[in-house]
Amino acid sequence: MSFSIDLARPTGPRQAAAPEKGSLVGLSRESLGEALRGIGVPDRQVRMRVQQLWHWLYVRGVSDFSDMANVSKDMRAELARHFTIARPEIVEEQISADGTRKWLFRFPPRGAGRPVEIETVYIPEEGRGTLCISSQVGCTLTCSFCHTGTQKLVRNLTSEEILSQLLVARDRLGDFPDRDTPDGAIVPAEGRKVSNIVMMGMGEPLYNFDNVKQALLVAADGDGLSLSKRRITLSTSGVVPEITRTGEEIGVMLAISLHAVRDDLRDMLVPINKKYPLKELMEACRRYPGLSNARRITFEYVMLKDVNDSLADAKELVRLLRGIPAKINLIPFNPWPGTNYQCWDWETIETFADYVNSAGYASPIRTPRGRDILAACGQLKSESERMRKSERLALEAMMIAGHGEA
Ligand code: SAH
Ligand code: SF4
Repeated sequence: MSFSIDLARPTGPRQAAAPEKGSLVGLSRESLGEALRGIGVPDRQVRMRVQQLWHWLYVRGVSDFSDMANVSKDMRAELARHFTIARPEIVEEQISADGTRKWLFRFPPRGAGRPVEIETVYIPEEGRGTLCISSQVGCTLTCSFCHTGTQKLVRNLTSEEILSQLLVARDRLGDFPDRDTPDGAIVPAEGRKVSNIVMMGMGEPLYNFDNVKQALLVAADGDGLSLSKRRITLSTSGVVPEITRTGEEIGVMLAISLHAVRDDLRDMLVPINKKYPLKELMEACRRYPGLSNARRITFEYVMLKDVNDSLADAKELVRLLRGIPAKINLIPFNPWPGTNYQCWDWETIETFADYVNSAGYASPIRTPRGRDILAACGQLKSESERMRKSERLALEAMMIAGHGEA
């Protein structure tokens, strides 16, 4: 059982950002300072104003200038005349039977484009909560088992749009401090609803490097949202030239969508492999800045029945990763309408996992979450290509035929 709240109704907490005004959300401190100078804030005040705004935006989570209590009324009015800090429009919020939540966001057009829609997923677990963030609308890549890959790239998300997914999730989960807490409130490190973020939603984050970098650096900033970089994971299908930069310039944890251990098979499953084959990918992983036993690379491996799930594949996987501090994340394939791949079977996946485990790799099997609301890995696809009812029914039937544990 799942339910869905239509937040696009006028009575919902929807706040459509005014597209004509520039947003102050997701800017670096330097750009924020520039924006303030641009509206005539004197140089000697800029640093202090940036600090104030940073606190209101990222510690208190306000989305209206009028809530910035220690900023003068005139200044608030001036800011509101030129800029916005409003949240994006939430079209729909769905809550799965297992507590997973999925939001459908609509962002205003950029330039001559149309409004776009993307999805963000929140997965609560014992002692932690992970937010799965999208970086693009659609994807240029066409991994054959991925639902997002069937949707053409519409555009990159801006740093504001990437960061807003985190801000709205924290709003909706009550993860910002109460209005009544003292001014000096800091975001507590413990007990947060969103304790981790993963760039594993729609899109290839390394094809939108600059915006992803900026958003993640704001999320990790110790005077604001202060998410530890060890709790931020960026997943890539293998954009080799940007992997080293990710470590050097962003410094977050890395996940690689591996899925196959031979070039001929990976060329088919993850076609970017034709451009950057396994040898180059593995070399980039070995050189990943900051790599150590305490900071391992996660290798994601989607289990596709009779395609990549044999014991020989498991053996080759262990050989391929030799010498790299690694975790292996086995992901049961999540079906979607129109796919030719089949769901995993438990015995095969366990045999695979046992082999990899006995070779010394932690290899948790990722329990599918939120399948009833199509929120599991690889099932995201913006509702601009919304599923027809008949497709939904077909999917449900597939999942029942598969393992019925959706
Ligand atoms: N584009 C990036 C990040 C988004 S995909 C990447 O490919 O890494 C997040 C993870 O979900 C990737 O490992 C992806 O390969 C996996 N995935 C895609 N479709 C899936 C499906 N149908 N079932 C299970 N996992 C899937
Ligand atoms: Fe794009 Fe990642 Fe899906 Fe491949 S798996 S199509 S890179 S979103």
